[in-house]
Amino acid sequence: MAVPKKKTSTSKRNMRRAHDGLKAQSYAECPSCGEIKRPHHVCASCGQYDNREVLKSGDAA
Ligand SMILES: [Zn+2]
Repeated sequence: MAVPKKKTSTSKRNMRRAHDGLKAQSYAECPSCGEIKRPHHVCASCGQYDNREVLKSGDAA
């Protein structure tokens, strides 16, 4: 197994982890029912996307 020759310094370790922070989940309001949904996704509560029904309304099955 490959073994690192030198211990990773605190600075280098922290630089590597600079991109690891969690981002806040983005959301958008559904234009037809006002429910919060994920952007560019079919609304789970009314089943609409781009103002037309994609899924059967009521349940997101
Ligand atoms: Zn909706």
